[in-house]
Amino acid sequence: MSEKRDYYEVLGLSKKASNSDIKKAFRSLARKYHPDKNPGDEDAENRFKEVQEAYAILSNEEQRRQYDTFGHNRPDGNPFGSGFQGVNINFEDLFSGGSFDSVFSQIFGGGGSRRRERRGNDLLMRHRISFDSMFNGSEEESEIESLIECSECMGSGAKSKEGVSSCSTCDGHGRITQTQRIGPFLQESVADCPNCGGSGRIVTDPCSPCRGDGRVKKDRTIRFSVPPGISHGTRLRMQGQGEPTSGRNGPSGHLYIEILVDDHDWFERSDSDLLMAFPVGYNDLLSGKKFELPHLDGSPLIIDVPAGSKPGDTIDIRGRGIPRNRGRGRGNVTVLLKLHIPDNLSKKTLSLLQELSESIDILDHEIEDSIRKEARHRRSGV
Ligand SMILES: [Zn+2]
Ligand SMILES: [Zn+2]
Repeated sequence: MSEKRDYYEVLGLSKKASNSDIKKAFRSLARKYHPDKNPGDEDAENRFKEVQEAYAILSNEEQRRQYDTFGHNRPDGNPFGSGFQGVNINFEDLFSGGSFDSVFSQIFGGGGSRRRERRGNDLLMRHRISFDSMFNGSEEESEIESLIECSECMGSGAKSKEGVSSCSTCDGHGRITQTQRIGPFLQESVADCPNCGGSGRIVTDPCSPCRGDGRVKKDRTIRFSVPPGISHGTRLRMQGQGEPTSGRNGPSGHLYIEILVDDHDWFERSDSDLLMAFPVGYNDLLSGKKFELPHLDGSPLIIDVPAGSKPGDTIDIRGRGIPRNRGRGRGNVTVLLKLHIPDNLSKKTLSLLQELSESIDILDHEIEDSIRKEARHRRSGV
């Protein structure tokens, strides 16, 4: 056997490479030398094994430290011996983010299993909550109809232990390699085994309620907590609460609950702040007034409109907005003042207003001055 190459050299990296550099380099080299891409090329196969071994060591913190110290001559030897054969890394797995890491847990687990890990389907459910529940957090529940493990056969799909056998078409791997001729090219692809549907097993004595699938459709009640301040559209993940795999062939998928928050009667949300428009009568803007509104946190919200307020002015009420993540206080309530214009006034009121007009409205000869003053005010930004 020839001299073993340095692991960093194999991956084309320096000794200072970060974990993500190592992962990136491995992915790209594994794609390049993968046997599926280089059928019958012994050189590529050896390079592929070399790359796998280098990655297995360098991606493990402890193994890497030992290798950095002792190189290939570690006192306790190579955990894989010199006959490291690698594991069957599926070509597709090198392109998909999801199952990549699980493939590698197989390396550290001794590489015994040649079957690709399969996970049940993820489920997505939408759930509506009130603005009040968003504000205070709540315990929610929802009915969902989905596949669950068949209780009759405990998910195996067979009436008895003897009622299941390994699929002969794919040798129990669940996947087969197909070669297809396209013009002058041979294209290899890996697909789910059509005989067993990718499970690697054949049920010879099927359970009746689930017809051999190991799963049945059923209504179930999901209970979950919604944290205070959750944003509209957030997806909560309930690990392992998705669909089980057929024949208990792998872990269940996840259940995602997308939270939709109903509108509030008057508040809009901006991060952890609450915004509202507040119509106030002319007289109240002029003389000032305290208003009291019921609020989401249970104590009344006091809006103190100072005398001489203008429509468009805002009032900030600090610390009465939405709870922030992980107990970092609360946002503010911002109140935008509007001028309330009454819908229909009686003749009597209108004539009273006419009388008042001389003292509160702008006189004809003051109009230009007033416009100038407004412009100066606007430009000075006060
Ligand atoms: Zn069953
Ligand atoms: Zn099969």
